[in-house]
Amino acid sequence: MHKCSCLCGSVRFDINTHLKNAINCHCKFCRKSHGSPFVTVLVVLPEYFTLLSGEENLQRYPEDETKTGRIVCNICGSKLFTETAKGAPLSVYAAALEDESEVEVMAHTNVESKSPFVVISDNLPQFGGSITKEDYMKMVF
Ligand SMILES: [Zn+2]
Ligand SMILES: [Zn+2]
Repeated sequence: MHKCSCLCGSVRFDINTHLKNAINCHCKFCRKSHGSPFVTVLVVLPEYFTLLSGEENLQRYPEDETKTGRIVCNICGSKLFTETAKGAPLSVYAAALEDESEVEVMAHTNVESKSPFVVISDNLPQFGGSITKEDYMKMVF
């Protein structure tokens, strides 16, 4: 069980999964949204995600539920996770973890649109677009 929270502490949730399947996403949407050169996400199945507090502070962008939503705390603005369809895996931002020491990155995605000043200097697999479910399953299992 790993504890997660936003910067102000009003939103708290647990993820009950290992942290060895993190992905660095270099897409423009993640970069714009976070104001950072890439974002590290953990793929978590909904049944391993437990919201403990702050449901009333969760804000979704965009509100259109047919699109992938980025969920932020409406007090401190922390990006916490994304949700797609109901029941689909969530992408939890690794920075939401209170203890990131067990996080292991296993791949880079959307490297074709990465920030020009970012130099990837590790030997992890790189994917031009988003990672497919098949590629993901191969790496994780
Ligand atoms: Zn907050
Ligand atoms: Zn992205």
